[in-house]
Order: sequence, then structure tokens, then C-alpha cells
Amino acid sequence: MAAWYAEARRPLPWRTQPSLYRTVVSELMAQQTQIKTMLPYFERWMKRFPDFESLADAPSEAVLKHWEGLGYYSRARNLHQLAKDYVAMDPKPVSAEEWRQLPGIGPYTSAAISSIAHNHPTAVVDGNVVRILARLTNDERVFKNNGEAVKAFTELAEAVLNSENPGDHNQSMMELGATVCLKQKPMCTVCPVFRFCESAARGNQDSLPKIQRKATEQVEIERVWICHEGQVLLHRIPEDAKQLAGQYELPKAFDLGLAPSGKPLATKTRSITHRRIREKIFRLPAEGVTLTSEHQWVPIEAVETITLSGPHRRWIRELLANGNKSA
Ligand code: SF4
Repeated sequence: MAAWYAEARRPLPWRTQPSLYRTVVSELMAQQTQIKTMLPYFERWMKRFPDFESLADAPSEAVLKHWEGLGYYSRARNLHQLAKDYVAMDPKPVSAEEWRQLPGIGPYTSAAISSIAHNHPTAVVDGNVVRILARLTNDERVFKNNGEAVKAFTELAEAVLNSENPGDHNQSMMELGATVCLKQKPMCTVCPVFRFCESAARGNQDSLPKIQRKATEQVEIERVWICHEGQVLLHRIPEDAKQLAGQYELPKAFDLGLAPSGKPLATKTRSITHRRIREKIFRLPAEGVTLTSEHQWVPIEAVETITLSGPHRRWIRELLANGNKSA
């Protein structure tokens, strides 16, 4: 595995120029986001916040603005708080247990950071590692969810960890899962552990691991596009919201007491975990709309300067580009 990893690993910026800070940022960014998506964000982030100190000193608006488009903004808030905590800490965290005390750091991320940056022997266990181990051992147990599978494979992951070089071992497992032992059509013929793999010998790789999936839930949301005197009406998500706190979005019709009908300006669909969400955007006049304290008129020329959740920025740009600047 070590020889394969040295040869096959992708030249990602946190590997070609490694540092503790770059490892931490890359691990937080990679939660919920694909590597190819996060790469431009990572480069931009490093230019603006090159180390823990510059991030700790930055205003939260600048931090959120540099995260805009990556989604799951609690990661940005956690990373900001982590930098502040880390700068103030003495002694600094080294082991996975110590790293886990910092915001946004769970078992997987703490194992990744402590093994990669400090050579601390803790195995990472996530969906990739579960998949590799389940296939290597032809484990046909059925798990209720990913969390249960991760727990079940943690002991085996620790047992096979190369404790002399845990950082490279963990990264080789992540790399193998991301590039070779794929969910569908694993590339067994080029796999460095092919000759040890029981499921490859049996030909049932595609069916492992066996994890029950939640049924897809269909969700419909009606949103409104209301412009008035060069301003657009937006909803500011409250600061105490669990998700997307402080960000702007197109208002929901229901929140404004509206029930639009007819043909929508646009219909957007997206999937978040097991939910399939269909959002219809209706153009409505400003007259008669009763605002709540969470709704604000934002000048159209200021839209690019505020923090919008990723899809809403795309939709608003599209609506403006299509000439929808008035009621
Ligand atoms: Fe995965 Fe195939 Fe390698 Fe087995 S041989 S670990 S199934 S890629």
C-alpha cells in the first residue's frame, strides 16, 4: 500500500506543501464536499487566511464570504472558532483525543489530523474505509446506516493500521477508496490489495458494504421573486438558526402569507441527503406584501456583496441575467 500510495497519490495542494494548518483546513473543507469542488476554494482561502493567526483575527463576515458556495456553513464557523482556540492553546493538541476537543472535529477528522500532521497512530474510519474493509474481508453483515458500519469496522481499521507511518497509511486508505475501490465498478485490476481481497475473488464487490438506505422524501417549496424600486426582497436566516445562520435567501411564499399560483418564473430541483427538493420561484408584485423582521429589501447592486446560500446566488444571478429586475 505504501509503495502504491507514493506512486498513485494525487498531487493535492495540502500534500505537495504540507503543514498542520493546511491539513486542518483541507479536512474541514472536505467534509460533505468533493475534492475537485473544494480545490479552488482551498487556494482562495490560503491566499486570504494563510495560517491559524490570520484566520483567528479575521472578521466572521470575511470568513463566511470565503466559504460561500461550499455550503454547510457551520464548518466555516467551526474552523474560525478552531483557529481562535488553537492560537490561544498552550500546550497545543497532538493526539486525536486532544484534537476532538476543538469545534467541528469529530472522530474521523481528529484521526486524520493527528495522524497526518503529528504521526499519531489513530485509524481514520469513514465510508471509504468501511467499503475497502468490508470488501477485503467479504463482510456481508447488513448495517442500518453509515454510523453503525463505521463503529463495526473501527476495531479492524485500528488492527491493520501501520503505526510506524499512520499518516501515510490513512491517506492511502482515503486515496484507495476515492480513486480505485469505488462504490460502483471498483477498479480491482489495478488495486494494490487485489490478491488479499475476498470479495474480488468471489465477484460480489459491487454489493458490499450492505448499508440500508433511507427512502427518498419529496419536498416542494414555493419561493417568491419580488422587486421594487431597484431592490429585491430577501429573507435573512436568523442568527440562532441551526443551518445557514445569517445568510440571505429568496423568501418562502408561506412565510409572507402568500399562496402564488400560475406559471413559476423558474423551477429548481436539488437533492440533499435523502431529500429530493423541488423549489418553484414565482414573480409577485410588492404591493400588499406584509414583511416580517426577517425580511429585508436589498438593493440589486448590493446582492453580490451579501452572503447568499450557494443555490440562491446562482438562481438570483440567473433571474437578474434574464431581465427580472422589476415587479
Ligand atoms: Fe476494492 Fe477491488 Fe481492491 Fe477489493 S480488489 S479492495 S474490491 S478495488
